[in-house]
Amino acid sequence: MKFYPLAFLNRMNLLLGDEYSTFLEYLQQPSVRGIRLNPLKCDEKTLRNTLSFSLTASKFSKFSFQIPEDADKPGAIPLHHAGAFYSQEPSASSAVTVLDPHPGETILDLCAAPGGKSTQIAGMMQGEGFLWSNEVVRSRASILLSNFERLGISNAVISSCYPEVLCEKLSGFFDRVLVDAPCSGEGMFRREPQAVQDWSEEHVKTCAVRQKLILESAALAVKENGVLVYSTCTFSKEENEEVVCGFLSEHPDFVLEDAGVSFGRPGMGMPQARRIFPMDGGDGHFVAKMRRLSPNVCRIPEYPFQKISAEADARDLYDQIFQQPSPLLLVQTGSALLLAPKGLPQLSNLGVIRAGVLLGEIQKGRIEPAHALMMSARPQELRQTVPFSSSSPEIRAYLHGEELSVDSSLKGYAGVAVDGVITGFGKCSSGRMKNRYPKGLRNHN
Ligand code: SAM
Repeated sequence: MKFYPLAFLNRMNLLLGDEYSTFLEYLQQPSVRGIRLNPLKCDEKTLRNTLSFSLTASKFSKFSFQIPEDADKPGAIPLHHAGAFYSQEPSASSAVTVLDPHPGETILDLCAAPGGKSTQIAGMMQGEGFLWSNEVVRSRASILLSNFERLGISNAVISSCYPEVLCEKLSGFFDRVLVDAPCSGEGMFRREPQAVQDWSEEHVKTCAVRQKLILESAALAVKENGVLVYSTCTFSKEENEEVVCGFLSEHPDFVLEDAGVSFGRPGMGMPQARRIFPMDGGDGHFVAKMRRLSPNVCRIPEYPFQKISAEADARDLYDQIFQQPSPLLLVQTGSALLLAPKGLPQLSNLGVIRAGVLLGEIQKGRIEPAHALMMSARPQELRQTVPFSSSSPEIRAYLHGEELSVDSSLKGYAGVAVDGVITGFGKCSSGRMKNRYPKGLRNHN
């Protein structure tokens, strides 16, 4: 039996009326487990054929699936290392379904770590367009980066910046902006005991004030006719409908639009918004979609690309690894060489941690290719790939960091694929492959 703060239960009783007792029953049940397919690297058929547990389609997104309660922990599975999927409770995908990102658009995810929603957005963009993912807490932004690398996202910038600074500079730049706001986390109670510990009436109020400020900043970043989506994983009206109402009353140039989805239920006194309660098959979410009607001129200049001295070596390395030459947009920061995304704006003073994909690092006058570069590739794009199946002893050995025997015709850098999905690389010579799987990512079991 789980126990919850009395003040929280009283609030839920007021909010839900007749449905309160059903809610209490659901609150005692475990949260649904799920994963989300990463369409940048894998397809549904491969995932279904490879995983040892069943996938049940979810109503919250076409890429989300429920997995059995007793399924193996997904983290150590080779296809997880390969970035074929992201562990996510299915209803957590609802906000991005409402955001409805498209290939070719410019999109901002303002509160992005650890990256569940950003990686979903990137998947829906299919590698086309420009994604900016921001996380104000620097340590959490590093987790965001490692998830982006694992899922092979190449058309994004990751930053750790205050929303008011970022959105002022990037005023009018984005077609769609997501604010998945920090909240009191009532919807996480079934999964995260810490959220129950942290909860108080005071916390709900503080969150509401902060949410209003973040939304205020986010509004600046939206271009004319662009979309602003506000979401939380909490039930309190103060953090949901009241934040949106307060925002709209001060911004008559924004209108509330229908969320355009059939899952969950209408918001409380706000039929255009959507709420998900445990009785609706999820944890606890709120999502509202708004549109900016007023002009918002974008003044941020384009990134001033400059010729870099390592350009010829970078091209050589790229051509050694990839079949097709790339129209490289190269950026150098210190020893790091990056393949920048198209449409990159000026980045100064915005806490940028990564712009595009790390191609490699200059070490002792040579460029060492980066794991992230390989993770963003498909096997058919590489000159050399060593393929393994998920159940092979070789892939276990590779993910442990061991050297492998390979065909003696392989020379130089080769991708390592698991069930057709690149999970890293190695350097081959004389029938052996030196392991380049990063130490911090290796399996230790
Ligand atoms: N969208 C993320 C995902 O799907 O993985 C989850 C985001 S979580 C609900 C909210 C995030 O907002 C946290 O990572 C938190 O660190 C960040 N945050 C906290 N205070 C903030 C602030 N004042 N402004 C912007 N973001 C903040």
